[in-house]
Amino acid sequence: MAAAIRAEVAERVRAFGDRPPGLAVILAGHDPASEVYVRGKIRACEELGIHSEQLLPPAEVSTAELLALVEALNASDQIDGILVQLPLPPQVDAGAVLLAVSPEKDVDGFHPVNLGRLVTQRPGPVPCTPAGIIQLLKRNDIAIAGKEAVVVGRSDIVGKPLALLLLHEHATVTIAHSRTRNLEQVCQRAELLFAAVGKAAMLNERHIHPGAVVVDVGVNRLTRAEDVERYFPGNAKRREEFERRGSTLIGDVDPRAACALASAFTPVPGGVGPLTIAMLMANTVAAAERRRRGQWTVDSKEGPG
Ligand code: NDP
Repeated sequence: MAAAIRAEVAERVRAFGDRPPGLAVILAGHDPASEVYVRGKIRACEELGIHSEQLLPPAEVSTAELLALVEALNASDQIDGILVQLPLPPQVDAGAVLLAVSPEKDVDGFHPVNLGRLVTQRPGPVPCTPAGIIQLLKRNDIAIAGKEAVVVGRSDIVGKPLALLLLHEHATVTIAHSRTRNLEQVCQRAELLFAAVGKAAMLNERHIHPGAVVVDVGVNRLTRAEDVERYFPGNAKRREEFERRGSTLIGDVDPRAACALASAFTPVPGGVGPLTIAMLMANTVAAAERRRRGQWTVDSKEGPG
């Protein structure tokens, strides 16, 4: 599905001829996970013909220096999208840096102006992970309207925007978080269950209603051999990966429970992650189309972008 979205985006990129859309990625410092994510994003740009620039300020960069960098990119004619890879180093005021990105170039959809557009259902960039999840449901013909949806996690980048998108698709939405009482009972209500917490295999057979569709956003690392055997019993591929790398990835949902109870389930890795990158590409092209034509041309409700 991510490949299908990328192919659609590549088609739109071709329409730009020799002035392709441009994405700038700011990666401050040396967070290993961020380096992996940025590499994936740059590779996707190259594959789709999107011009990309990596800006690599040192870990000790100041807020003022980053603000100057963002301002230069805001003014650059070659750049349609600006992505500030999080987390930023601790001395940096991340809120100020994200606020400085021009809303028209905010391909992550994190700027308050774009969050306002999202709340009021105006066209604009939608945060990539939630946008990818909606595409995943729609392209699998999984009905959303009227369904009981439970989103576990209320972050600004995943849980909250996902809940809004589901609401706009006419689901009955419950948002659960660390203060939710009786989480198991709340999750049992879900016909569509979304896990965006960041805790390995936290949701299990007690949370999943039989037949529910389970979307696992979490990305966690198992570092103990006994846990790998527990969650992936007899899985030679996982065991081999663990022996090679010293860890293996797991989501927020116990895969054994999801496989036994869910009617559909997204794996980790290889589920939500690739869609997130595909939607970033779609947001970049939509920003470029908008800049060239002077308005948002793709309605966020109707398709990628
Ligand atoms: P955050 O840490 O910002 O948010 C986690 C949320 O989970 C919070 O709202 C928190 O509640 C809630 N939570 C924590 N513990 C519990 C609990 N015991 N019961 C119920 N809720 C709980 O994480 P993100 O939203 O940024 O990311 C979530 C996960 O998704 C991470 O594993 C991340 O790596 C992954 N991710 C994956 C992406 C992909 O492309 N595949 C993209 C983005 C994220 P509270 O608000 O009360 O603290």
